[in-house]
Amino acid sequence: MSQIRPPKYVRQVLVTLLGRGYPAYLVGGCVRDMLLGVRPHDWDVCTGALPEEVLALFPGSRPTGMRHGTVTVVIGSRQVEVTTFRTEGGYADHRRPDMVSFVGDLAADLARRDFTMNAIALSAEGVIADPYGGVADIRRRLIRCVGVPAERFEEDALRMLRALRFSAKLGFDIDLITLDAIREKAPLAAYLAAERMRDELEKLLLSPAPETFFSVSDLGLLDTYLQCRLPASAGLEALGKLPRRRAERWTALCAVLERSGCIGSTEAFLTALRLDKRTIRACAEAVKMLRTPPPGTALDWKKLLRRYGVDTVSCAARCADALRGGDSYRELHAVLKSGECFSLRHLAVTGDDLAALGFKGRELGDMLNFLLDYVMEYPANNRREPLLLLASRDEE
Ligand code: ATP
Ligand code: MG
Repeated sequence: MSQIRPPKYVRQVLVTLLGRGYPAYLVGGCVRDMLLGVRPHDWDVCTGALPEEVLALFPGSRPTGMRHGTVTVVIGSRQVEVTTFRTEGGYADHRRPDMVSFVGDLAADLARRDFTMNAIALSAEGVIADPYGGVADIRRRLIRCVGVPAERFEEDALRMLRALRFSAKLGFDIDLITLDAIREKAPLAAYLAAERMRDELEKLLLSPAPETFFSVSDLGLLDTYLQCRLPASAGLEALGKLPRRRAERWTALCAVLERSGCIGSTEAFLTALRLDKRTIRACAEAVKMLRTPPPGTALDWKKLLRRYGVDTVSCAARCADALRGGDSYRELHAVLKSGECFSLRHLAVTGDDLAALGFKGRELGDMLNFLLDYVMEYPANNRREPLLLLASRDEE
């Protein structure tokens, strides 16, 4: 076992439940991460107490998923998800259990979990319950289903994507029988809600191995979203060179998918996956920039900055360097550092200055844009005097 110990507030939850006679364990990702020597990002507890009993026991706790038995216990500024032991059954739509029942014992709760590494429980005294050999699989760095893989994927097709996401995040292999079952059951991914797919894909893209997306496509998990599967030569390795940020990773992915003919447009693909409008727009614009040759001059960069804004142009520049080599990001930075004007906000005269000269309405807007065009070409003249001279109205 690693040196990592659960923090005080988590032990407080376990001990309080135990004190009332309810069994309580840490479970899932936090136990897996502790065994890996990684500090967990959150702590999940499972217990024999019913959700109402958990609510009664912890003042300030919130019923966040009562149907599934989940209560969020709040201790000071911290939160712990406490879930009642449960079994699930009847997954008619391949994505959700039709029935959830609360049970008294840990074994049944561990049996419903997806992978052996996620089906380990740890008691407050440090005793491990590991009925499916999860500790050994973690040691072997192996992702293996609890139970018969094909049956588990029939129940919930998202588990197939989760297997690839965990493989990308942890650098684990997927056990061969589990992998064969993914290949066989991949068409069931068509039943999944786009939002759940998106969340898993995003975690995979933000992992240290975003190129694992190739396997997602190759196994057929995205056949409903892609016109064709990615060729091995698509160049997804470039994604790993990018900062772990959503915009960059989605943009580079979409550029590769467009280039390979797998999607008709970035906008349609990201809309189908229900990304938020802002991200869709930023990615679509960045992909559009990537279709054109890199800007050759400071003026070209400023034109892009004026049109798309700093964030989107930075994202496109980073993606350009990763996907096709070059030094775009450094060039862009030099332009930004120069302080040269590319937006009305940094123009040395304002709308009020022009109004004082008698400009109004559309004429005023046109003049501001004319002055901006001008200072983008002659940056040294972004000063009040020359611009006010330029702006004096023609006599009619
Ligand atoms: P992460 O560190 O990414 O949060 P995690 O293992 O905690 O990893 P969660 O999605 O937070 O993953 O789920 C918590 C636990 O719930 C899992 O460890 C697993 O035991 C169980 N679980 C989650 N989703 C499923 C699923 N679709 N099928 C079966 N068990 C699941
Ligand atoms: Mg988790």
